[in-house]
Amino acid sequence: MTNEKRIKPKIKTDELNVREDFPILNKTINGKKLVYADSAATTQKPIQVISKIKSFYSSQNANVHRGIHALSEEATREFENARTVVAKFINAKSCKEIIFTKGATESINLVSQSLGETLIKPGDEIVISAMEHHSNIVPWQILCKKTGGQLKVIPVSNTGEIELEAFRKIISKKTKIVALNHVSNALGTINPIASLTRIAKEFNAKVLIDGAQGCVNDMVDVQKIGCDFYVFSGHKALGPTGIGVLYGKQELLEEMPPWQGGGDMIKKVSFEHTTYNEIPYKFEAGTPNISGAIGLSEALNYLSTVGLNKIISHEKKLLKVATDRAQDIPGLKIIGNAKDKTSIVSFVIDKLHPQDIGTLLDQQGVAIRAGHHCVMPLMDRFGLDGTARASFCLYNSEDDVYKVFDAVETATKLLN
Ligand code: PMP
Repeated sequence: MTNEKRIKPKIKTDELNVREDFPILNKTINGKKLVYADSAATTQKPIQVISKIKSFYSSQNANVHRGIHALSEEATREFENARTVVAKFINAKSCKEIIFTKGATESINLVSQSLGETLIKPGDEIVISAMEHHSNIVPWQILCKKTGGQLKVIPVSNTGEIELEAFRKIISKKTKIVALNHVSNALGTINPIASLTRIAKEFNAKVLIDGAQGCVNDMVDVQKIGCDFYVFSGHKALGPTGIGVLYGKQELLEEMPPWQGGGDMIKKVSFEHTTYNEIPYKFEAGTPNISGAIGLSEALNYLSTVGLNKIISHEKKLLKVATDRAQDIPGLKIIGNAKDKTSIVSFVIDKLHPQDIGTLLDQQGVAIRAGHHCVMPLMDRFGLDGTARASFCLYNSEDDVYKVFDAVETATKLLN
């Protein structure tokens, strides 16, 4: 905290020139123009994505892979093109390595059930970190219960970082799977996933990276990272809900058994025997979320057009402004001060409940998240029930950041 109040600079309100693409940002909440600072929960969608989905249902809708008519062929082309866009976005070697799922959660469950149940034997270990989302904890706990495996947890430092030495202390020859966050949804920490993967590979462990918060906040190159699996959700990358991705190395996916049975994942079925389809279809039983995949590819194209480098440097600037401004507020403490961070600011304020802060902000038209952020063990690590969390994205401006923390300051005065 400084003694002098920071003077708000004269600021542009649309630094990346993208705001007009997000119609929802014109909405009024409680009589105030919406300031959306909850992008870590879900991002808003640009008009290009909304229009693409509308256009698919207006002029291209048919089921994929099984039709012999022109419309089905067109829908299949669009759907498979979406897979190519995803593969290119994360630099996968082949689009066979891209499996469409419901989201990051389903992708992790797919790996834990398909790979996990064949790989893990009693006494084998699965290593995660103390900052994992429940989605990257519970599937592994279920797997351990079924197989006799053991869950090992890398501690997190006071600044909210995974230290490589701490990881080296936990990993061993017994480690078969390492599953780690790319970017912490609660702290904003960007983990050194390439270095962590390199260490895991010294022990021959399979590596899954939970990129639910990763792919808009950091450049993702799965070949450079060297991970076996990378998962993310469309809705946190400007795309629709209900669609996500599992990237997996081709040779691994080919060895893994299917995890759900049904249409599309088979080559031939009789009552005596079924042969499975090739990857990626082996893991996509049933009619897929066609419009979701197409919407997601439009979102990734949008991010590429704006420029991921530009977006990342914009978000770094917002983080700096937010951190400085937040620290001017008496009694406010930021949780998570990693050297490498995305534009997520989690905080607590002396004697105030995060939920009350969130509610008062909502009355001022400001949307943030308050609570445990689905990382209860991490909250325990910091001795907290929850935090208030402001998270910013490409469509936020410095002006938004000031509005959020001005509103926090007003709430603090009211609550005290
Ligand atoms: N991991 C992290 C780090 C997340 O932030 C989230 C979503 N909050 C998930 C996993 C789960 O994503 P989804 O609910 O979209 O499956």
